[in-house]
Amino acid sequence: MANEVCFRLMHLPEPWRLAAYQSEGGYEALRKVLGGGMPQDQVIEEVKKSGLRGRGGAGFPTGVKWGFINRTAPGPRYLVCNSDEGEPGTCKDRDILRFNPHALIEGMVIAGYAIGAVAGYNYIRGEFWEPYERFEAALAEAREAGFLGKDILGSGLDFDIHTHLGAGAYICGEETALLNSIEGRKGQPRYKPPFPAQFGLYGRPTIINNTESLASVPEIIRRGGDWFREIGVANSGGPKLFSVSGNVARPGNYEVPLGTPFATLLEMAGGVRGGRKLKAVIPGGSSAPVIPGDVMMDLTMDYDAIAKAGSMLGSGAVIVMDDTNCMVRVLDRVSYFYYEESCGQCTPCREGTGWMHRVIHRIETGKGRPEDLDLLDDVAAKIQGRTICALGDAAAMPVASFVRHFRDEFAYHIEHRRCLVGG
Ligand code: SF4
Repeated sequence: MANEVCFRLMHLPEPWRLAAYQSEGGYEALRKVLGGGMPQDQVIEEVKKSGLRGRGGAGFPTGVKWGFINRTAPGPRYLVCNSDEGEPGTCKDRDILRFNPHALIEGMVIAGYAIGAVAGYNYIRGEFWEPYERFEAALAEAREAGFLGKDILGSGLDFDIHTHLGAGAYICGEETALLNSIEGRKGQPRYKPPFPAQFGLYGRPTIINNTESLASVPEIIRRGGDWFREIGVANSGGPKLFSVSGNVARPGNYEVPLGTPFATLLEMAGGVRGGRKLKAVIPGGSSAPVIPGDVMMDLTMDYDAIAKAGSMLGSGAVIVMDDTNCMVRVLDRVSYFYYEESCGQCTPCREGTGWMHRVIHRIETGKGRPEDLDLLDDVAAKIQGRTICALGDAAAMPVASFVRHFRDEFAYHIEHRRCLVGG
């Protein structure tokens, strides 16, 4: 499809091979950049112009982030790719590593050049063994062909990429915990400031980008920032991968222009399974506030539209729930996840995630108390904005939104000690 970027090679038999990638314009962007056509500032400007926003969850403009690094400071700088992808519901970056690893490699070399980095690290989630092997094989192909390593394409640029496998902790997707993990320390988030652009990997200026963000860079450079921006809508440039899961007929990853109506995306995924009624959607991974189904059907899939509806586009993990789902049970599972994954460094998160889970679990198991809903609101409000990293907010926001939108269902559980939907 004309609007696909990360998945544009899927019609080829072995899209992960260098030959396949080059047959569709692969590494042309790198030649354009290193052939003298694009100084570092121009590369950064082109990425700013594209409107590319971080695809890992925060949605921060990628080009602006690159501009934060001080290229004149003495000493090494680093680029880090975050392929940890631990957000429940998200499964897109693993497919980029599996099916289009060279786009990521080319994007990392271009980004490394733009920010003046001496090396790049790709932090891959430990469970992603096949994606890891594909990526390693692609690195070998790229080195052999002169796209990586010393004196890339005879330009004088030295840049190599090292892979680091994680060990399954969700918190290592937080960028400073990820840096600690690469350094061999406990994977716990750092206090900020200083931010990684000033004090990152090994204490050096570092830029950290998501896999999909970096894999989008070659097409932005090859076809122009304007081309990319115009695929999307204002303030949300380009296409985006959405991992659609839950009660749909065809769950999977779909790459569509930002601004695509949710109803269209749902249709691509085969609609609600069994023709049942859409009850609710989590539009951006389990940390994003839930949105009732009728509201969701009128929304478009872009950063601003989802934010206006009180949620987040996040990593693009769209979890669809039909009317057989008990919202108390769903929240019981979600809240347990964040309780388990809290790194324990700060009190509101360490104590609050467990407290919220215990309250939700007693409601789910028929032991809820009338005051529990106000208590949940209170605990969630006291976690948000009071922690070192965003996991505290990620744990609190679903709780507050589930209780707000489905209060009657929670109240029914408490009053009748059983489930409203018969689960
Ligand atoms: Fe750790 Fe939670 Fe604090 Fe983040 S918010 S640093 S996960 S305790």
